[in-house]
Amino acid sequence: MALAFRSPNHHDSRSGAASREDLLKALETKFPASKSIDDEPAIPTPDIFASLLDDDHAKNEEQLPRIAECAVHLRMLEAFLVLKQKVATSNALDRAFGIAPKDTLTTVCGKRCRKTDTTFKERRKVKWNLFVRMAAWRFLDWWKGAVKTLPPLDVLMVWHAFLLNHSAYRNFCMTPVDASQRLAKEFPWKEIHNALQDDKERFFNVSSDVESTFSDHHGPFDLFKALSDHDSHSMMLKDALEKLASSPELQNDLAPAMLYFNSATQPRLSVSDQTRIQTLKEMVERQEKFVVNMANILWFRSPALAGTLERAIVRYSRFLAFFKDREDANKMPLVPTLDIDLVWHTHLCSPALYQAGCKHFAGRDSINHDDTLAQALLNDGFVSTARMYEIRFREEYNACLCWPCEALRSELGSMKKANGEVDFAAIAKKVQEDVEYYQVVELARRTGKPLPAKRDVEVL
Ligand SMILES: [Zn+2]
Repeated sequence: MALAFRSPNHHDSRSGAASREDLLKALETKFPASKSIDDEPAIPTPDIFASLLDDDHAKNEEQLPRIAECAVHLRMLEAFLVLKQKVATSNALDRAFGIAPKDTLTTVCGKRCRKTDTTFKERRKVKWNLFVRMAAWRFLDWWKGAVKTLPPLDVLMVWHAFLLNHSAYRNFCMTPVDASQRLAKEFPWKEIHNALQDDKERFFNVSSDVESTFSDHHGPFDLFKALSDHDSHSMMLKDALEKLASSPELQNDLAPAMLYFNSATQPRLSVSDQTRIQTLKEMVERQEKFVVNMANILWFRSPALAGTLERAIVRYSRFLAFFKDREDANKMPLVPTLDIDLVWHTHLCSPALYQAGCKHFAGRDSINHDDTLAQALLNDGFVSTARMYEIRFREEYNACLCWPCEALRSELGSMKKANGEVDFAAIAKKVQEDVEYYQVVELARRTGKPLPAKRDVEVL
């Protein structure tokens, strides 16, 4: 799947880093292509995820998210973006949703010409809108069910967005009856990691048991596939979707479409469920900017992934501690940087652990992650948070987190740990080579070319 990501290099204009043309040339001339799967580089390196296998890992209140969980989080956000792009560009889904270009023939200067339908692009956007609503409905249905195996990606996307709105999620878990065990449910990082291992074959790969446990109760596991294959299914879906797509006032009512997915129960959406679907859809939409930010900076495929996440976790723990001294609600909001926000989001995905962490690090019952604040207030809050951070820790708060800057930080960090003589020229050379190699691998991945052969890691 080709992604419309920006170059992973933020610093292009400042440092004169390699252009796409330079990288293409390097891919063809400088790096020999891999000859077999075994010869391909593993990016990120599998040991990043090793701690996920550690089932005995003690969960205590001081337990912040680990590097592995943050890394799976990044991979999952990338999967959400790919899903959105698949929906947006799918012709099969255009057909399923009854959206077609209305090209018309006109006569210009005596010649018959085809006039392109300029509304088509705009009308296609309704697909994602409806897809997220369906996902929200499916989430509610899955949530009400007794068995909670790993849900499909669309349901996961809604669950994830909901978790990030901690207060709303906690209220939802507690009403109408106290269901603390729901709150204590751990986010399935390990299962998600396993499902997203292979991004070439099947997109979100689960065992047939997991698939049938879901589909026995809640409709097809793969919503995208089910909608794409609609030609071979009942015409009811087509009718329902055409109605939904063509009449905005019907968009709140997903019941007709859901008849197809779950004909046994013939769902009628209650007013409260309709409101919930709308709220959940808006939560997913508010996350989309962060998803795009993560895709642009692309730490997941950078040479410094482990270092970036390790530093981010430390920075997040400091950020959390800032809440300790802030009794006054009228003070400026504390505003995170992108890396701190990633760890914060990861922490929020395990609500019980998050609450314990807030108590331990910030002396609070919980801290809400408010993603609805106005931009002007966020800007002022960011400036004041940066000032506090820099005074307290004598470190830059809003540092550049692009690949070369992060690779350099990682190298310097490991030098410091090794406590040896620092050879700056050697470090600079290594960072440059690492970044170029990773960029070339990424370019090959995106353009579907054979990946460069894996290389031996040089130890300075
Ligand atoms: Zn930079």
